Amino acid sequence: MSRRLFGTDGVRGIVNKELTPEMALRLAQAIGTIFDEGSRILVGRDVRLGGYMFKQIVIAGLISSGVKVYDADLIPTPALQYVVKAEGFDGGVMITASHNPPEYNGIKVIDSDGIEIPRDKERVVEEIYFSGRFRRVSWRSLAHEAVRYPEAIDIYVKAVLSHIDKEVVRKKRFKVVIDPANSVGALTSPRIARELGAKIITVNSNLDPFFPGRIPEPTVESLSETAKIVAETGADFGVAHDGDADRAIVIDNKGRVQWGDRTATILAKYLAEKHPDLPRRVFTAVSSSTVIEDVLRPLGVEVVWLKVGSVGISRELVKRGGICGFEENGGFMYPLHHPVRDGGMTLALLLQLLAEENKTLAEMYDELPQYHVVKTKIPMDRDKAVRVVERVSEHFKEYRQITIDGVKVIGKDFWFLVRPSGTEPVLRIMIEARDKEKVNELLKVIKSIAEEVITK
Ligand code: MG
Repeated sequence: MSRRLFGTDGVRGIVNKELTPEMALRLAQAIGTIFDEGSRILVGRDVRLGGYMFKQIVIAGLISSGVKVYDADLIPTPALQYVVKAEGFDGGVMITASHNPPEYNGIKVIDSDGIEIPRDKERVVEEIYFSGRFRRVSWRSLAHEAVRYPEAIDIYVKAVLSHIDKEVVRKKRFKVVIDPANSVGALTSPRIARELGAKIITVNSNLDPFFPGRIPEPTVESLSETAKIVAETGADFGVAHDGDADRAIVIDNKGRVQWGDRTATILAKYLAEKHPDLPRRVFTAVSSSTVIEDVLRPLGVEVVWLKVGSVGISRELVKRGGICGFEENGGFMYPLHHPVRDGGMTLALLLQLLAEENKTLAEMYDELPQYHVVKTKIPMDRDKAVRVVERVSEHFKEYRQITIDGVKVIGKDFWFLVRPSGTEPVLRIMIEARDKEKVNELLKVIKSIAEEVITK
């Protein structure tokens, strides 16, 4: 088996333990080597400790390989991605561990189209990393220094706003709670909402690498205090980002945390009606709720189910064209802006949607089909998890199935997904059904199949 560095979303690890300065230097030299000499590369970071350290190291490694480095410094991942594409950079490097706990950091590589590099390019970077076949240019060809590039944030905010009917939204004078998790979303989302005439209440908006307000992953539990603030201040809604602001989780005006696939369903329906010229397709991973099909099918929009992982969704959206792409965790992709997850763009679209519909967000969520949900996992190695998937598929063979990543079984009033995790030795189980008993019944069947496989 070949050695691997990249996980599902870049290289990640605990700072100075799993991700060391030496590794970052080798990685930066390898990344520089895959781009042509003289390429322009934009570098940015989120608020995490180690981010400054890794940025200096990455810049040094890139310069040694003969590329020109531009330093956007603190910036959301979607802003860096947009600017790479829009300003004609050859690539980008983002230093972030997204939603991981504070002790983590990571490095991801962005291609000239503003999307993470595809798997085959990651394999090339890994090959250069392990073989040490770095390109080292002569001293005369070294860049003098990295060029500071603080305008990246302005370019991004302006681009997001260009897709919104500002006059219509400003008239409504919305009240919005913004919780950027003490990280880089604080640099863009309050500005976007303010430019759209909203009254803003910020929560956890001072930059702090210890994430004192909440963990950088937006979950129902981690957002309980923010949700209370939304309800008590009478805000129209709240938006909470993860550590690099590519995700946006919505809290509705009743203070309920709404999961990303429900928000995406509301947005996708709105966009399908607003942009009849866009190809009648929406892209998401099998881990999303089938509520998207319930709502979009009657409108003649196809839901394309893909493997879990945002890069695959982005690339399919570009290749085949569509209305949007999304992940159930709050990553929403609006292709007319940029086909990657983008928390700031999602916030702006929500404001536009709310300005045009004569309803509250809570009313819109309540109109969606209601499901009872269970998400759980059972520890087991990958081989066993694969066997459980096969047996579950066999057991439910009379139902519609999607088998591109584990098995997703879709019935009339329920659906469930059973899949081996890509990152830990566990079997992941997600079940949704119209009634609670059905959820419990399905969970019991899946658990007993898993038990049989484990004890065998
Ligand atoms: Mg993220």
